[in-house]
Amino acid sequence: MQHTTSHLMRAYARQPVSFTRGSGARLWDESGVEYLDAIAGVAVTSLGHAHPEIAAVIAEQAGLLLHTSNVFRIDWQEQLGERLCALAGMQRVFFCNSGAEANETALKLARLHGHRRQVAQPQILVMENGFHGRTLATLSATGNPAKQQGFEPLMPGFLRVPYDDIEAVRRAADQSPSIVAVLIEPVQGEGGIRVASADYLRQLRSLCDERGWLLMIDEIQAGMGRTGAWFGHQHAGITPDVMTLAKALGNGFPIGACLARGEAADLFSPGQHGSTFGGNPLACRVGCTVLDIMARDGMPQRAAVLGTRLLTGLQKALGQHPSVLAIRGQGLMAGIELDRSCKELVGRALEEQRLLITVTRDTTIRLLPPLICDEAQIDDIVARVARLLSSIPTLNPAEPTLNDLVDRTPHHV
Ligand SMILES: *Cc1c(COP(=O)(O)O)cnc(C)c1O
Repeated sequence: MQHTTSHLMRAYARQPVSFTRGSGARLWDESGVEYLDAIAGVAVTSLGHAHPEIAAVIAEQAGLLLHTSNVFRIDWQEQLGERLCALAGMQRVFFCNSGAEANETALKLARLHGHRRQVAQPQILVMENGFHGRTLATLSATGNPAKQQGFEPLMPGFLRVPYDDIEAVRRAADQSPSIVAVLIEPVQGEGGIRVASADYLRQLRSLCDERGWLLMIDEIQAGMGRTGAWFGHQHAGITPDVMTLAKALGNGFPIGACLARGEAADLFSPGQHGSTFGGNPLACRVGCTVLDIMARDGMPQRAAVLGTRLLTGLQKALGQHPSVLAIRGQGLMAGIELDRSCKELVGRALEEQRLLITVTRDTTIRLLPPLICDEAQIDDIVARVARLLSSIPTLNPAEPTLNDLVDRTPHHV
């Protein structure tokens, strides 16, 4: 049956297609047409659609107990907390329902940390092109003026520096004694798939240690195996003080988590933070099942292998394409930056290639395939993207123009 969107707030620019079922990396729309999913609900359904083990656990737990309250002990929350801490080298977890809430928790920890150190107006260092969510605090932390526009006044207490630039952080440190924490993504997802160098992350860790700042890493998109490690920062061999998770942790069931270690793990006292739904038995049991499956099936390692295949394939198919400026990525996070705005490619990919992609930062095609893809599906994604891009008109013709010839004329002649 066809409904309309007229009773929904127009917060989204939606594609006209609606899916009714899925299986693994495949989806079917209302007319039964099959699609290949190269975005996994924006890094959420990493174990694919309709995973039978997850479906069974949801059904079983729904028949036992959905919700009690954080007034009581919740065994599944304790189990998931223990297991996440073991994977990440952390000590305590606060559970919530989304990425933005996980980052709100981190931001509140940073403020408490600052006040404990007698900093009256604590500042948090954030990155250009960073993305941390849509609540007022996380929007203020986000480095995208287009998303912030209209929602002023933004929250104070943030200082912004260029990403992957340690000298910029050092300069900020020297100028602003009230910095108490850094919030950063190991790979900027919304920011166009930009990977922080391992060396930068290690230097940032040292600087945080020297200055007594909390290193807070937003792993909401890059975490849970996607980059080829459980968490993106692990490629650099560092451990943050605070880490946030959401997206793939529930494979589509809403759950968020803020993990902490050391001093940061003990900042909250009872009554200082809370969530009605956060950490309910159903969400946490799903999280435990996701971890079981990911560990059993070696998902981070799979993402590393498939990610290399994806990036090599894209490089081979599109490396010489006249409109492709760069191909970037780590594991199963890939970005293809074009020489123009390319938002309309999302609709064309659906219609012409039966492929789900997203475009971020206006000019970058973003691919986030589910981690359960097989090799043939990865190759198929590459082939469909290549076909999609085969028909776009060239902006900069390869033949030299009169201007090129003039520019190349040696000046000393
Ligand atoms: C998606 C995302 C968020 C926000 O998560 P929501 O669940 O949409 O609130 C925050 N940080 C990063 C890096 C993300 O990719």
